[in-house]
Amino acid sequence: MDTDEEIRNLGEYFFLLSSLLIHLRPSYSSVVVSLNSPLSRFAIYHSRFSTYAVPVTALKPALTGLTPDALADWLKGEGEPAFRAGQILDWVWKKKVGSIEAMTNLPAPLRAKLSEAFRLHALEEAKTQGAKDTTQKFLFRLHDHRYVESVLIPANPALYGEKSDRRTLCVSSQVGCAYGCKFCASGLAGFSRNLDASEIAGQVLAAEQLSGERVDNLVFMGMGEPLANLDNLLAAISLITGEKALHLGARHLTISTSGLVPQIKKLADHPQQIRLAISLHGATDEVRGQIMPVNKKWGVAELFEALDYWNSKKKQHLTLEYILIENVNDDLEQARILARHAARLKAKVNLIPYNTVEGLEWKRPSEERCRAFRDILKNAGVTAMLRLEKGHDIDAACGQLRLKQETEEGIIEAPSKR
Ligand code: SAH
Ligand code: SF4
Repeated sequence: MDTDEEIRNLGEYFFLLSSLLIHLRPSYSSVVVSLNSPLSRFAIYHSRFSTYAVPVTALKPALTGLTPDALADWLKGEGEPAFRAGQILDWVWKKKVGSIEAMTNLPAPLRAKLSEAFRLHALEEAKTQGAKDTTQKFLFRLHDHRYVESVLIPANPALYGEKSDRRTLCVSSQVGCAYGCKFCASGLAGFSRNLDASEIAGQVLAAEQLSGERVDNLVFMGMGEPLANLDNLLAAISLITGEKALHLGARHLTISTSGLVPQIKKLADHPQQIRLAISLHGATDEVRGQIMPVNKKWGVAELFEALDYWNSKKKQHLTLEYILIENVNDDLEQARILARHAARLKAKVNLIPYNTVEGLEWKRPSEERCRAFRDILKNAGVTAMLRLEKGHDIDAACGQLRLKQETEEGIIEAPSKR
């Protein structure tokens, strides 16, 4: 069989298979099939809106997902000395090397074995927006041609030429989100898949490499519901906080959740002092239930009870996030109820005027209304933050860059058609 013929055959097989999958499982979001043709070792990914092939080499596990213990086990299995684990981790996480080949203190046969078994990184830079010392947005391509994004936000945006002194990275935990909050870009196209530990921890490593700066704080406020991906999240956290990997203090990590009660309790029992932020967005079941379907499963009373449990286990104060959406949840009575709950929980409140999302109708209230809402909280003795200035839209808009990219590439349907 000549090369052209093989490619044609493969093409036909590919087409048949795709049609069959559409026929069998119309809602399937992605399927992988590896074709062991000597010519084309690649896998076919098939979404409802497009089909593409990726090299099988991209499917090897990434070194950035391996805990020190897992790496030690692999080395043992290969008959390699244990001290190599430290060297490899040092290259990956501290020296932030660009290839396995560049790990020059490893013998060539070990580098060859590592390359055969692993890829170095799980993420490939697709797009970077923004400049150093300003808010930067990174769009990453995953091995199955899906996208996630991370946003690096300087604490002091260096408006007058000075260097920013602290940087917070907002990372994603899933491709899409199953929780379908009515105001959110991430939930717009539904849920595709969980990110694995290498894809979560890899965002921090990649952001440090691309920006050339150290990440000081981490917030799990990007795309996805982190507590719906708890095992991978905890594996990533052990890499992010691990001495041999990124070594960021647990106190510098904040997990944001829409309120998954059993997982909040489970995380409360976790020994590390991780911070928690709750996307509340409504102080009563009536208001919250209108915009957050998750509230039907765990109402506010159950949620607050889980937060009491959290407080009994952790030292750090909770944060309640409250997006202000005009005529939806900005009634001042909501502020009064919120103030009572926040005071009891000793939680601080973050008020976020709604950021417009393409394809959605919601709007932020007037500045006057936002201030009045905050003042009710402040007068009740609650620490409440309200950021009104423009230019921060990018902060909470995580999910939108990926939505745009995947829509353009036909991986997901355009928002207007949903
Ligand atoms: N799923 C988790 C974490 C990701 S969302 C959660 O819901 O907490 C991170 C934060 O961004 C949440 O508080 C979410 O409600 C908020 N958010 C989503 N869309 C927004 C928008 N258009 N404007 C402002 N904040 C938004
Ligand atoms: Fe999912 Fe959070 Fe967006 Fe709700 S706000 S859809 S839980 S990412």
